[in-house]
Amino acid sequence: MPTRLFPKLLLAFLVVIATGAVVAWGTAWGLAPLAFAEHLATMADRLGREAGLVDEVFAGFQQAAGTAVLVAVAASVLVAFAVATFVARRIVDPIEAMRQAADRIASGRYGERVPVRSADELGELADQFNRMAASLQRLERARRDLIADVAHELRTPLAGLAGYLEGLLDGVLEPSHELLGRMHREVRRLERLVEDLQELSRVEAGRVASRRKAASVHELLEVVLSRLRSQFVDKGVRLVVEVPADLPHVLADPDRVAQALTNLLGNTLQYTPSGGQVTVRAWRVDGEVAVSVVDTGVGIPAEHLPHVFERFYRVDRSRARAGGGTGIGLTIARGLVELHGGRIWAESPGPGRGSTFTFTLPRAG
Ligand code: ADP
Repeated sequence: MPTRLFPKLLLAFLVVIATGAVVAWGTAWGLAPLAFAEHLATMADRLGREAGLVDEVFAGFQQAAGTAVLVAVAASVLVAFAVATFVARRIVDPIEAMRQAADRIASGRYGERVPVRSADELGELADQFNRMAASLQRLERARRDLIADVAHELRTPLAGLAGYLEGLLDGVLEPSHELLGRMHREVRRLERLVEDLQELSRVEAGRVASRRKAASVHELLEVVLSRLRSQFVDKGVRLVVEVPADLPHVLADPDRVAQALTNLLGNTLQYTPSGGQVTVRAWRVDGEVAVSVVDTGVGIPAEHLPHVFERFYRVDRSRARAGGGTGIGLTIARGLVELHGGRIWAESPGPGRGSTFTFTLPRAG
């Protein structure tokens, strides 16, 4: 037989059949004489001297009962074979399909799926298996994309540095202060990229130490703004904070929220021209507190809005790069907010009309 489940099922059926046969036989030989005894005694009285006939009738009954049990056992064994084969196939075929698919997935073929043939537990298992395979496929694609993206991001500053160094070696370029400054900017860009990547990997692995406690949004904002205020002044962008005094505390890791806010406010600085305004608002919604960073800057075209939180996504590649953007800041901010169980989203009425980034955090208590 092709399957190992088959002999087990057959054995189980045979045990049931054997039990039935033994009980039927035992009943015919053991109990039936007692049940028949009264009738047979009456018959013996009527038949008088022909009492030997009684024994013959009884022997005939037992023979018939024995034959019936034998026929029943033979028929049951045949049916047991058929049913065991059928059931084993129904169970083993899908399991075998999953085993082979798992084997192929293990060797890197993440596109493998198994057919879902029934709505029972096996069907559910096949469905779950397919979902697991799809999520492995997504992870694998993300891993490959990440490597390709990182290689691409490293290439630009490295190519710049290599060009300057070759120029210096060939004597085509003079080691001027200005040239060293440009080289330093490329090195800084590489440093920022590596720092952001490290932070991103920590956030995505959920490894960021989340020391959550009840925190005041006012205080969180003050920590961040005290660091950034001078940059707003230098750029000529007005900074307005509209946070109600009675705003409830949030349940958050202050360092992590400060980092998310820094990324959002850093972007407004980069994408809001001088003379513009950045407003930070906060308000309560149900069990959460929402914080919005609104700017009057370059805005984001509608088709880019759903993507700005993706890794390395930049609406205007050259502008973002020139400004030193790594394209990871919003991905990190989203990861940090989601670590707290919050949501983050972007809105913009369109290019040139400003952007609004809003995130939520759970309320403390
Ligand atoms: P970057 O380091 O390039 O700023 P981010 O992940 O922080 O990367 O942002 C991704 C992209 O989203 C940016 O390149 C920019 O195109 C867009 N963006 C982010 N914040 C703003 C904003 N306040 N105004 C306009 N565009 C923005």
